[in-house]
Amino acid sequence: MSVSDVFEIGENDTVWDAWLATVNLLDMLEGSQRLSGLYDFAKTREMIARVYATAKQHHIDKCDQCNCNLSSAEHALLKRKILLFFRMQLSSLKRFLE
Ligand SMILES: [Zn+2]
Repeated sequence: MSVSDVFEIGENDTVWDAWLATVNLLDMLEGSQRLSGLYDFAKTREMIARVYATAKQHHIDKCDQCNCNLSSAEHALLKRKILLFFRMQLSSLKRFLE
């Protein structure tokens, strides 16, 4: 198993799983001085925090109903989009693992 495989988001993963994998990879890469100046870690963290806050706001990982106006289908779509966002962050960060 390569390091890159550890930072995968599976089909059944929660947004929290995806968030954790992304933040862990970010921490790992930020610790390596090699990337300083090449990647805007602060901006990425800000984006991740905003997306994760949206997931929490809509109870995406919870079983209880969110009381906003979106339907459950729309919440499912929102979850897919959020997971896609984290997958894209991971794949962009993984370029630096090579
Ligand atoms: Zn909602």
